[in-house]
Amino acid sequence: MKTIKQSWAEPYKIKMVELLKMTTPKQRQIALEEAGYNTFLLKSEDVYIDLLTDSGTSAMSDRQWAGMMLGDEAYAGSSNFYHLEQVVQEVYGYKYLIPTHQGRGAENILSKILIKEGDIIPGNMYFTTTRLHQELAGGTFKDIIIDEAHDPENEFPFKGNIDMDKLDALIQEYGAERIPYVSMATSVNMAGGQPISMQNLKELRALTTKHGIRVIHDMTRVAENAYFIQQKEKGYEDKTIREIVKEINSYTDGATMSAKKDALVNIGGFLAVNDWDVFEEARNMVVVYEGLHTYGGLAGRDMEAMAIGIGESVNDDHIRARVGQVIYLGEKMMEYGIPIVKPIGGHGIFVDAKKFLPHISQDQFPAQTLAAEIYLDSGVRTMERGIVSAGRKANGENYYPKLELVRLTIPRRVYTQAHMDVIAESVARVYLRRKDIKGMKMVYEPKYLRFFQALFEKL
Ligand SMILES: *Cc1c(COP(=O)(O)O)cnc(C)c1O
Repeated sequence: MKTIKQSWAEPYKIKMVELLKMTTPKQRQIALEEAGYNTFLLKSEDVYIDLLTDSGTSAMSDRQWAGMMLGDEAYAGSSNFYHLEQVVQEVYGYKYLIPTHQGRGAENILSKILIKEGDIIPGNMYFTTTRLHQELAGGTFKDIIIDEAHDPENEFPFKGNIDMDKLDALIQEYGAERIPYVSMATSVNMAGGQPISMQNLKELRALTTKHGIRVIHDMTRVAENAYFIQQKEKGYEDKTIREIVKEINSYTDGATMSAKKDALVNIGGFLAVNDWDVFEEARNMVVVYEGLHTYGGLAGRDMEAMAIGIGESVNDDHIRARVGQVIYLGEKMMEYGIPIVKPIGGHGIFVDAKKFLPHISQDQFPAQTLAAEIYLDSGVRTMERGIVSAGRKANGENYYPKLELVRLTIPRRVYTQAHMDVIAESVARVYLRRKDIKGMKMVYEPKYLRFFQALFEKL
């Protein structure tokens, strides 16, 4: 007998809608020129389907909105802070919580506390804000992700893994005293949302414990990572996302979190640590940069929405549909022959711009060009993750990343399957006319995180 496949579907129904503006090709051409061919500089009202980022763009649930009404807007000791603290302890397993306005607020405080001039911070691929805060604090980031992560064609299921030999070599070369912590990310963003395995985390814990080195977890997308462990790692098929998330965190000493991703809120983040001394210093420092330690730059209502969102984010049905939608889009794009990073990651599809536009050299920004062309075709907004995002080294030279990608990031609970079809068709149309596409030159370059504000012209 033939078996009929069991599709995933959204574990929610729609209660309110936001209307979208449709634009003409001519309107999009004008908008793009005004934005200097940088999709970050487009006005959101000129965008049809917005895949710029999954950061702060998720749809909150009715329960989260109800939580907003329970905001206890006190300067100090808001009840929403205590609720959030309890949820972070229960769901994530970290002891002490410092709320921050978003992830980079936590990165700033943590980097300032733990890093001294000349330190080395190994990590499984860099993230833009994370590395910059490490550098501004006087440290040097060293990439210790496995080589497979730099190869978009390699289908290894845990391309977020750390290469223990690379880490061990750094410890031998610099000594453990100069390594304040290993910066470990789950669902490695810059590699295409690739997960790290539990086995790898256990090995990392063993090696770092031996040398007295901390592990700090960038847990922005930990639930999505947990889903891949559940689906692909032996021994975890019967565990819940909640259980897996907690086990991941148990191998680390603290975390920075951008709650704008996994945790289903539009703003917020936190630093969470197990070490009292680090907490004590962070609690003091947060007052300088964010706000008092019981609000950290957030309103009470924001903390309440976050507390509820964290609970929803580790629900198995939620995460299956969330990642299921991403995989649906990826498979559709592969049917059109579009070169994407494999395996498909948790939060978006990463198009291999080097393969898509092989006639454009990296100095002429193939990924930036492709993002502009996709917008022009349909009003779908994507972003560059390649040489522009990688920026320059301290000595002024460009980083030349191996991966030159366009990221189509899917906001959580926002778009439908029909939207996914429209997106795949648009990229496919651009793919058909790829040979006629020319590269660009950068005509304005800001000093920090240039991808946000750089301007380009067509060659
Ligand atoms: C978004 C993000 C950050 C930074 O968080 P913000 O909330 O944008 O400041 C850090 N790490 C990763 C992996 C992220 O995706």
